[in-house]
Amino acid sequence: MNRIAAANPLFYQTSAETPMVAKAEGIYIWDEDGRKYIDGCSGAIICNIGHGDPGVLAAINEQAKSAFFTYRTQFENRPAVKLAQKLVDLSTPGLDRVFYVSGGSEAVESAIKLCRSYFCSKGEHGRHLIISRTPSYHGSTLGALALTAYAPLEIPYRPMLKASPKIPAPYCYRCHYQLTYPQCNLACAKALETAINEQGPENVAAFIAEPIGGASTGALVPPEDYFAVIRDICNRYGILLILDEVMTGFGRTGRLFAYEHWNLRPDIIALSKGMASGYYPLGAVMAGNELVESVLAGGGFPHGHTYAGNPMACAVGLAVLNRIVDDQLAENAAETGRQLLSGLRQLAGHYPIIGEVRGRGLLTALEFVADRESRAPFANSDQIFNLVTREAFSRGLIIYPRKSINGLAGDHVLIAPPLIISAAQVDEMLERLNETLAAVTR
Ligand code: PMP
Repeated sequence: MNRIAAANPLFYQTSAETPMVAKAEGIYIWDEDGRKYIDGCSGAIICNIGHGDPGVLAAINEQAKSAFFTYRTQFENRPAVKLAQKLVDLSTPGLDRVFYVSGGSEAVESAIKLCRSYFCSKGEHGRHLIISRTPSYHGSTLGALALTAYAPLEIPYRPMLKASPKIPAPYCYRCHYQLTYPQCNLACAKALETAINEQGPENVAAFIAEPIGGASTGALVPPEDYFAVIRDICNRYGILLILDEVMTGFGRTGRLFAYEHWNLRPDIIALSKGMASGYYPLGAVMAGNELVESVLAGGGFPHGHTYAGNPMACAVGLAVLNRIVDDQLAENAAETGRQLLSGLRQLAGHYPIIGEVRGRGLLTALEFVADRESRAPFANSDQIFNLVTREAFSRGLIIYPRKSINGLAGDHVLIAPPLIISAAQVDEMLERLNETLAAVTR
C-alpha cells in the first residue's frame, strides 16, 4: 500500500488519499503507484525551473565535495558572495545589498525589522507601523502574519502582535469601493495616503505589497498606474516601499522581478520561493546602501538565522539564477503565459462558473462564481475550490486552490507551472483543465 497510513505521525493533516511521491522531473511528478501528474502550480509556486534540473544537481554535487555548511560569522563563502553580486547586478539601482534568510516568511520578517531599525537609527522611534493590504499574504511567522489579511489564517492567533493598518488591495473584479477603473481614480492606491494620515505619518515606517497578488488574491494584477501613485505617496511621506516578491520573483510573471513591469523602484524587496526553486531553503531581502549603512551604524541589524547564506543554499541559488537568466526563462514565462491566459479565457467562454481569468506571465488564476452576472460566490466555498482541485488531481493535473476571502468571495485556483513549460505542454494542461471543468459542471 503506497498511501500514507491513517495514523500518520506527522503533525499536519494529510488525507489518507494523499499519494506518496516517487519522482519528479521537468514539469512532471510521479507517485508510487506510477501515476504521472503535470505540476501545474510548481508545488506552491516555487519550482520555477522545474524538477531534477541537471545543472542544479551538478552544482549540488560539486558544492557537497567542498563545504556543505559553514557558519557565516566564521567563514565567508564564494557562492554567497557571487550570488549576492549577481542579484545586485540584475536588480534595479538602489537595491545594492543582500541579506540572506531561509524562506519567504523570514524574508518578510527581516524586511519589517530592517525598516524599524532604519528609523530607530535616525532617531525616528515613533515610525513603527507597516501598512499592508487586504486581502494579502506575507507569511506564517507572527510578524509576517500580522501584515497578512486573510482571516482563516489569522483568527486562531488574534490579537496579532501589533495591529497593522490595512488598505484595500486593487481587486478590480470585486472593488472595495464598488467603482470601475479608470473612473475610480485609483481610490485603492490613494487609500494609502488616508491611512498614513489616520495613523500619523510620524508613526508609519513602511507600506508592503505583493506586486502581483499571490495565493490570497489569485494573481491579482494592479492597474497600470497603481504603483506610480503608491510610490509618490511613499516619497511624499518619507515611508519605505517594501515589495514582497516572494512569489512573483525569479521570472514568474514574465520579468525577472515583477516591479520591472512598471519601472518601479522599491526600497526593499523580499525574495524566496523561485530563488532556489525548491532545491534548498533560501530567501533574501535586498535594500539600498544608504538604508543598510544607517542601520548598521545604529547597531540594529542584522539578526541572523542559523542557516542563512550557507554555502550549499547559495550554490543552489546561483545555479538556479544562471538557469533562469541563461535560458531566458522569464521570457518563456511571458510567452507561454500569454498562451495560457488566452486558453483560460477560451475556457471561461464555455464554463460560466469562471467569473474572472487573471494573471501575468505564468502566475494565472481562475476565480469561480455561482452567478457570473452578479459575481455572487458559491454559498459553500469549500465545495467549489476543493472540487475543481480534486477533479484536476484525479486527471493528473496539480493546481493550487485558495478558499474564498473571509468566507465571502474570491474562490480561486492558481495555475502557475514551471517556467520551462513548452507550448505543447501548455496545451496539454489546458486540455486536462477543460476535462476537469466539464466534469465539475456536468
Ligand atoms: N510572501 C508571499 C507573497 C508568499 O506567497 C509566501 C508563501 N506563499 C510567503 C511570503 C511566505 O513564504 P514561506 O512560506 O517560504 O515562509
